Amino acid sequence: MLRQVELVEKVKSYDPFVEEELLNKAYIFSMKAHGKQKRASGDPYFSHPLEVAGILADYKFDSKTIITALLHDVVEDTEKNLKDIKSNFGNEISYLVDGVTKLSKLEGRTDKFKQAENFRKLLLATSKDIRVLLVKLADRLHNMRTIHYIKDSTKKKKIAHETLEIFAPLAERLGMQEIRAELDDLSFKIIEPELRSSIIQRLKVLRLQDEELLEKTINKIHELLKNNTVEAKIFGREKKPYSIWKKMKIKSVNFSQLSDIMAFTILIDNLEGCYSILGLLHQKYRYVPGRFKDYISTPKANGYQSLHTTLIGPMNQRIEVQIRTFEMNDLANLGVAAHWIYKDKVKFKDGKQFKGISKILDILDQSREPEEFLEHTKLEMFSDQVFVFTPNGELISLPKGAMPLDFAFAVHTDIGINCIGVKINNSIKPLYTKLKNGDQVEIITGKEKIISPRWFELSITGKAQACIKRYLHAKEDDELKKLGKEILNNQFKNEKIRFSETNLRNILEIFKVSTVDDLFLKVGRGELPPFKIILSLFPERAIIQSNDNIVLFNDIKEKKKPSVSLKDLTPGMSIHYAKCCNPIPGDKVLAYISHGEGLIIHIDTCKDLKKIKLNNSKLINVRWKDFTQGKDEFVVRINVVIKNEIGSLGSLSSIIGKTMSNIRNLDITERNSDFFKIAVEIDVKNLDHLSKVLVSLRTSEFVEEVSRA
Ligand code: MN
Repeated sequence: MLRQVELVEKVKSYDPFVEEELLNKAYIFSMKAHGKQKRASGDPYFSHPLEVAGILADYKFDSKTIITALLHDVVEDTEKNLKDIKSNFGNEISYLVDGVTKLSKLEGRTDKFKQAENFRKLLLATSKDIRVLLVKLADRLHNMRTIHYIKDSTKKKKIAHETLEIFAPLAERLGMQEIRAELDDLSFKIIEPELRSSIIQRLKVLRLQDEELLEKTINKIHELLKNNTVEAKIFGREKKPYSIWKKMKIKSVNFSQLSDIMAFTILIDNLEGCYSILGLLHQKYRYVPGRFKDYISTPKANGYQSLHTTLIGPMNQRIEVQIRTFEMNDLANLGVAAHWIYKDKVKFKDGKQFKGISKILDILDQSREPEEFLEHTKLEMFSDQVFVFTPNGELISLPKGAMPLDFAFAVHTDIGINCIGVKINNSIKPLYTKLKNGDQVEIITGKEKIISPRWFELSITGKAQACIKRYLHAKEDDELKKLGKEILNNQFKNEKIRFSETNLRNILEIFKVSTVDDLFLKVGRGELPPFKIILSLFPERAIIQSNDNIVLFNDIKEKKKPSVSLKDLTPGMSIHYAKCCNPIPGDKVLAYISHGEGLIIHIDTCKDLKKIKLNNSKLINVRWKDFTQGKDEFVVRINVVIKNEIGSLGSLSSIIGKTMSNIRNLDITERNSDFFKIAVEIDVKNLDHLSKVLVSLRTSEFVEEVSRA
């Protein structure tokens, strides 16, 4: 186990900005927090975060990353929580540890995301700070190094698959080739142990044919370069079993054809040299067509630069050759992450330890704008998505601009329909809040549904909108059926006929419907005037008026019609309040059925209502009595004349406020030296409430006149 002082010295050796005290504190804090916990290996648990910190220190990552590594399992696995981390180590560390904890919650859930690529995207998008991802990669690497201690082979395989499909490609994307190769090999060992050992066996056989093949090849190439006065370093290696196997799969070659097992890297200190070496090799040895790649002029997405080619080498073996500068090589092994972490520091201080990195930065700076480049690889692909968490730490991906209702319906239709509010990161937020990456979203549900047509503006996903539409449509149909039944019932009462559903069944065919409910729906929708139904049952009640109108006998005579209850009808759906007169509960109102819209309610004296020359039979008496939506606020306009004195406007608004009403809009329509005429829009619950407001206003010394508009 790495000792405290060793770790600190190691970090100090390359990071001049090390926060030594904090690093020491993190060591002790994590050790104490994990206490007597043990790993599957029997080692103290603390050995794990310590090893993870060690891996990252080998890569020379900044001390904040190392501290995060030490603390990375504390929140998930010990009694300490994020608050403890924050109070002891500050905001930045707590932010990083929180990020790693969130990623850890995603582990083992790969199967929820059908495509590995999606999962990788999600990991990238979730780690707003790339250091979170680095710690996670190192964590995975150490867990893979010690995976043989796990007994359960199914579990082992699952972890190995996840590593191979998710984490190894992530390491590659971050430009960390060594970590990638090791993760690949460790996973391969678990997933295909026989295959792996037969590849190793084959490699041994090939090696036996000529034990010095690697060395001889290196020498020959060296000779060639020397003869042409090119100074370069050559490294040769046997390929790893997994990369051999991958090649076999891609190219569908079998073992006997497998000869391409050696790879060579030639390093030189200048860029032109790379191309000279390539020229020399291609002149001397036959090259395999289609295998040459120039990643120097066109770097890979992760910034990787190199020349690749395949030759029939000096020993008549197929060999892979990579040619690059030392700086490009550093980048290939250290990764883009180095750039990200050290960028600012290099600018401020040209510390010796950072020289290598500053060269890498130059390369990146030359090739593209590094900032944009990193942002690009990290975020561009997900700019149309936002990833948020459920309270259980499950991840939901939504399109950008999504709101809590989109989240709710994505989790479950029932949660969406019963949603009455939302908590985002533990505080109550309005439903129009746009969700941000990493938000924890908790939907508050309740029996009293608040779902309404307004929800279409509070959601953007197809799923949410379709669910809302389906629900509201069904609800609207229910309400309109109920309304249609009541309207029809009233018409029967008016005609003094007993209402009977059995009778109605006999006339369904006439109106081309199959159930009585459908008949009610047609009435409720305004598609079928109720008098037509009565006439088809009792043709003798028809009276033909002089203008050829057919009406019912009692429709002319009876002035007092029974009224329809507004109970359970949803405003904006099956009932609408006319904008011209703004009726409120308590007003004497009349309604008519508008085709397809349900009931439109006007105050009975409304001029607009009189203008609409409606057939009398279409006007319906309605009653507010059972109106249950007591929580609803209604807009009313009032006209007020106040004295033109200091404080009069203030007094007006404070009186309205005291009566628990809210001013929506205020418009001075006329002013002279003595008076203001003001039109005010206020919210009230009903007519009683409005009266209270008006009475209170009249008692004010400033108010001359007040009336409802
Ligand atoms: Mn861990």
